[in-house]
Amino acid sequence: MSQNRPPIPKAIQRAVLIEAGHRCAIHTCRYTNVEIHHICPWEQCQEHRFENLIALCPNCHDRADKGEIDRKSLLFYKARLMSLFDADLGLPKGADASKSHELREDLDDTYHVQAEYPEFDSVDDSVDELNALIRAEAISFIQACRKSAHLDGKFSPILDESERADLREFDIENENFDYMFYEIVHFGDNLLSIRNTCSTYRAGAAHPNHVASTFNYQIKPTFKFELEDICDDSDALASALSEFCINEIKRQVTHDTDAAGDDNEFVFTDWIENGAGPEPTKFKSFSLTTDSLIITFSPYSVAPYAFGFIHVKIPWRDLAKAVSLREPFRTLASNATTSAVPKSDKKSKRSKKSEQAK
Ligand SMILES: [Zn+2]
Repeated sequence: MSQNRPPIPKAIQRAVLIEAGHRCAIHTCRYTNVEIHHICPWEQCQEHRFENLIALCPNCHDRADKGEIDRKSLLFYKARLMSLFDADLGLPKGADASKSHELREDLDDTYHVQAEYPEFDSVDDSVDELNALIRAEAISFIQACRKSAHLDGKFSPILDESERADLREFDIENENFDYMFYEIVHFGDNLLSIRNTCSTYRAGAAHPNHVASTFNYQIKPTFKFELEDICDDSDALASALSEFCINEIKRQVTHDTDAAGDDNEFVFTDWIENGAGPEPTKFKSFSLTTDSLIITFSPYSVAPYAFGFIHVKIPWRDLAKAVSLREPFRTLASNATTSAVPKSDKKSKRSKKSEQAK
C-alpha cells in the first residue's frame, strides 16, 4: 500500500499545519506534536486534498483511526479551524467575553444546526442591550436554517445510488450541518465588533463552505454601524477600499504561492480584481477597531478555498487620506496620526516577519 502512496506535497502539508497553528486541530487538545490525518481515509479517496486533511496529535490521530473520533466530528473540527484561520494575523486582541453560549437543534436525523455566541459582563444597560442583540443574531441564524429546512428542504442531498453507496462507506452518507462560530474582533473604547463564521456542510460535498458575517456596534448610545456610516460618499469609499484590498490581497496571495514554491502570482489576478471590485457589496464583511477597518473576504470570493479567509487591515489614518470619514472614525484617524509608529518602520517590521516565515 505505502509504495503506491505518494507523499503529501510540501505546500499542502504546510497549509494544513498553518491552518491548525501547528497544533492538534482539536481545540481542547492543542498538543504541539502533530501528524496529518486524512478525514476520508487514503484507501478510499486516494488523493491528498487540503480540504480532506487535518492536523492531529498522535493520540487524537490514533483515536480517529479507531473511529473513536468519527468523521463528522473531524469535519466539525476542520470547519472550526477554518473560522479561526488567519484570525491572529495582525488583528488587535479584543477583550474576551465573560461567557460563551450555544444554541443547538437537530432539525431532523441528518441535519444539525448550532450557533455559538458570547455574552459580556453586564456593567450597565447598554451592555445588557448588546447581549440581547448578539443572542438575537444567533437566534436568527437558527431560524434561517430552520426555515430553509422546512420550506425548501435545501439540506437534502441530491445523490444517485452509487454516490450514496460511496458515502455509506465513509459514514457520512447523510450528514448535513450549519454551524456558526464567533470571534470577538474588538470590545472596548465604545466599539464592539464581532465576526461570525457560518460553516455549511452538505452530504457528499468534499468540504464545508464558510462565509463570514460581521456585526459592529457603538456601545453607548447603542446602535449598529453599517458600511455607509464610515463615509458619506459610498462610491468613493468603495473605490478606495477596492484599491487597498486588491493591492493587499495580491501581496498576500503572491507571498503564499511563493512560499508554496509555485510561480503563479498572476493566476488569480482576475479573481481578485473581480472579488474586490469597487462595489460596496464586496466589502459587506467588515470589522471596526480603534485603529483600523478590517475587510474580510470569505473563501472563494477572491482566491481558492485553500487560502481560507483573507483579511485586509486598513488603518484609519490611511483611509482618511483617500476619503472623508464620518465621526467617530475621523477622530480615530487623527488620534492615530499623533501616536502611531511611522509607516516605514511598520513596513520593514512586517517584511522582516514574512522573511522569518519563509
Ligand atoms: Zn490531539
